[in-house]
Amino acid sequence: MQLKEFTIERVIAGYRKQEFSPSELATSYLDAIEEQNGRLGAFLQVDRDLVLAQAAALDSRRQEVNKLPLFGVPIAIKDNFLVKNWQATAGSKILKGYVSPYTATCVEKLESAGAIIIGKTNLDEFAMGSSTENSAYFPAKNPWDTSRVTGGSSGGSASAVAAALAVGSLGSDTGGSIRQPARLCGIVGLKPTYGRVSRYGIIAFASSLDQVGPFGRTVQDVASLLEVISGYDRNDATSSRAIVPHYSDHLKGATLKNVRVGIARDWLEGVDGEVRKSFDEAVKLMIKDGAKIVDISLPHSRYALSTYYIIAPCEASSNLARYDGIHSGFRAEGVTDLDSVYFKSRGQGFGAEVKLRIMLGTYALSAGYYDAFYGKANEVRKLIQQDFLTAYEDCDCIVMPTSPSTAFKFGEKAADPIKMYTSDICTLPVSLAGLPALSVPCGLDSQGLPIGLQFIGKHFEESHLLKVAHKYELERGEFPLPAGVDY
Ligand code: GLN
Repeated sequence: MQLKEFTIERVIAGYRKQEFSPSELATSYLDAIEEQNGRLGAFLQVDRDLVLAQAAALDSRRQEVNKLPLFGVPIAIKDNFLVKNWQATAGSKILKGYVSPYTATCVEKLESAGAIIIGKTNLDEFAMGSSTENSAYFPAKNPWDTSRVTGGSSGGSASAVAAALAVGSLGSDTGGSIRQPARLCGIVGLKPTYGRVSRYGIIAFASSLDQVGPFGRTVQDVASLLEVISGYDRNDATSSRAIVPHYSDHLKGATLKNVRVGIARDWLEGVDGEVRKSFDEAVKLMIKDGAKIVDISLPHSRYALSTYYIIAPCEASSNLARYDGIHSGFRAEGVTDLDSVYFKSRGQGFGAEVKLRIMLGTYALSAGYYDAFYGKANEVRKLIQQDFLTAYEDCDCIVMPTSPSTAFKFGEKAADPIKMYTSDICTLPVSLAGLPALSVPCGLDSQGLPIGLQFIGKHFEESHLLKVAHKYELERGEFPLPAGVDY
């Protein structure tokens, strides 16, 4: 079997039929990564010894394939997650060489379910960005066209799955960082409800927004991963005690019959013609399958961009204060006193976008401005949330494009932050409202680049959301892989 054919189900089936061992499969993935990563820049770290040690331990536990839902499944992890003995750079020079002393809860859960951690993936520095061009190391490239971005910030995690260098992966989504790269790379990416997955062991960006979620080739794979990583964790006070359903089992018998699907028409303005066309076709398919379309209104979402770019930088400036050149990671040379340790280490260790956010956030939180900026932004955030709750009185889920345009060329938006920030215009309101949402590929544009449909659900109703998305995916039919993924 070739790597491009693997979903979680097919890997497990292969083990059951004894077609390969965990070590053999892990070796095939390691070889493919070695061959492709120069072209794609999806991984920041791949450690053969660490991977083969995990696989060898599973080789001797073959009978557990019937018990462990992710037995021997290679999963890639964004490099802002801690995994013991692996480095965690968060895509920043300031954490270069930092080795994790412990493992994030969600990754521990993957390991207990039998997964093989195959490598750490590339990202925008501290998850700030929409293209992975802000990685301090090298940009991740889109497997559909390597002159184009993967989206961001979890660009490496998306590129790895799209190029069949991992069966699934984890990313973090603060304002769109799972859904937008999934969309640009033609795969499925889910941001769960805020609090659904523990964030213990994830390097914090904006704590009232950050959420962990999975990438996969299919909704089924994403459901299987979500089921494993979700749940309460005493180490994360924001994690929810809501019970974790068997998301993947619930997909059986999914139907769109009489599902009320909300569409906010004003949101479709400003969406590229081809994206709009593909969106309309997807909606038609859902109607054909029995869905009822309901017009909804999200009037305050037009303030989402400005609200987000107050709240996220404020929280980031506070979270990133801990990188002082003393406790961990990079320390500048030639320092003379305590102040110069701070100034020089932070000055040389952080990249331009991170510095911009720290300055914005520090300014907005400073005495006299706190209420006018952070306080006000949080009031607007409540209005945005309230709009969604009102809309959900009339519908069961909402659909809209995941992002307004397809994968852009390197450098196209890098010089203009506002242009870059607006690529998240369709994902930010959902993040501010803390709702679950996933992106599913719904077509290709005339240049052969993937387009994505975003499904948005009610708080903690991932089960329903996944069912709707799964049924749509079945109607849509198999989605192609990028040309060149022929291994
Ligand atoms: N692109 C957005 C930002 O730069 C969102 C990033 C994210 O979700 N981590 O803040």
